[in-house]
Amino acid sequence: MPLWKTSASESPDIYATARAVEGLAKEHIPETGMSPEEAYNLVRDELYLDGNARQNLATFCTTWVEDEVHKLMADCIDKNMIDKDEYPQTAEIEARCVHIIASLWNSPEAEETIGCSTTGSSEAAMLGGLALKWAWRDRRKKEGKPYDKPNMVCGPVQVCWHKFAKYFDVELRQIPLSEGSLHMRPEQLKDYVDENTICVVPTLGVTFTGVYEPVREVCEELDKIQAQTGLDIPVHVDAASGGFVAPFLHPELLWDFRLDRVKSINASGHKFGLAPLGVGWVIWRDKKELPSDLVFNVDYLGGNMPTFALNFSRPGGQIVIQYYNFMRLGWVGYRDIQSACAENAQYLAEKLAGLPELDILYDGNGALPCVCYRLKHPEKAHYSLYDLSERVRMSGWQIASYPLPADMHDTVVQRIMVRHGVSHDAVDQLFLDIRKALNYLDKNNIKWSEAGPSFSHG
Ligand SMILES: *Cc1c(COP(=O)(O)O)cnc(C)c1O
Repeated sequence: MPLWKTSASESPDIYATARAVEGLAKEHIPETGMSPEEAYNLVRDELYLDGNARQNLATFCTTWVEDEVHKLMADCIDKNMIDKDEYPQTAEIEARCVHIIASLWNSPEAEETIGCSTTGSSEAAMLGGLALKWAWRDRRKKEGKPYDKPNMVCGPVQVCWHKFAKYFDVELRQIPLSEGSLHMRPEQLKDYVDENTICVVPTLGVTFTGVYEPVREVCEELDKIQAQTGLDIPVHVDAASGGFVAPFLHPELLWDFRLDRVKSINASGHKFGLAPLGVGWVIWRDKKELPSDLVFNVDYLGGNMPTFALNFSRPGGQIVIQYYNFMRLGWVGYRDIQSACAENAQYLAEKLAGLPELDILYDGNGALPCVCYRLKHPEKAHYSLYDLSERVRMSGWQIASYPLPADMHDTVVQRIMVRHGVSHDAVDQLFLDIRKALNYLDKNNIKWSEAGPSFSHG
């Protein structure tokens, strides 16, 4: 055994200790532990191998927060959101957020509305979907009609709705895309809805492209369908990203509780809500839209609290930060951040539009602050957008490439999210790196790589 190895265990330097030299255990818990300082450094070092989150422009989620947020998160490390009796002030802060968001979404009775925080939009979507399934089933039971074949109708939805449909036994009827239409067109609805439709789900900020689905037009079409057939079909809006963008950038757009048919809305606090990872919101138009049968009264923790959630224990910090953000930024602060993102996205789109290789599908105007494009002549190019993603990754940028949903499955697109913390100068540098990568791919006879889509729509 070399001498240095035995002495290393007593070394005052972290990188010369036995653990650092031998490596951390990978498959079992080690017999003995180590000092917190040593463990902290060695485990933290693993994180260097992850991509740099600030350069991850595939994600919709928060990757930059101010120092006070770190402090407040640390202050909240022991807050369990489910223990509403033990941490009543955290529960109070959650309730305030529900009312603030309800009023942001123009709820007719923002102080009375019912809603809750969740781990993200996925859980929020499940809760929204479940409430609609229960309400539909109750209606069908009362009418003495069968209630075993529920369906939901949507455009290009995020994967959480595929999960909802599978986990809770609902048929998902996804209206296909077509060239020239990147979202559901209201006039298509009549071919998809029937008496078993629990809801129609338009998305405010489609994950694939960043565009808004036309919620108002969808509601108007459903009014027409009701007049003709008697079917009264409710709408749930998946506003995972748009719920915290539209109120500030597009206040005139009708997509929220100003439309009577909109019964519930979900959004991700950890996307354009600017909170750290782990918070979503679902809000119902009014109390009667949430079947009481779904609400559990949990009383073994001392008090009696009604809850509607899939999880039990859950951290409270993200929710406290959501409230901190509302107080810290105010309406004007949110508007300024979202408009800075939109401006930078539009600036990037203009620059990319000048590249002969690319065809811009969405330029950051009118919906989410992002850019979506495809190759202008994919049939002539000897490389794909997957190769471009790989190439810009060499400069640290992570840019999502993926095929659009059916019937546009042959179209591969790239999407760049411009979030809080992506500066004008970062956009300039990104553009130079994309141009350099395209030049390289143009000049070198790189074969189509085996690379495929390699990211999640989150
Ligand atoms: C991100 C996203 C979701 C899932 O949200 P999470 O907060 O990641 O669970 C659902 N729908 C849409 C439209 C999204 O963009």
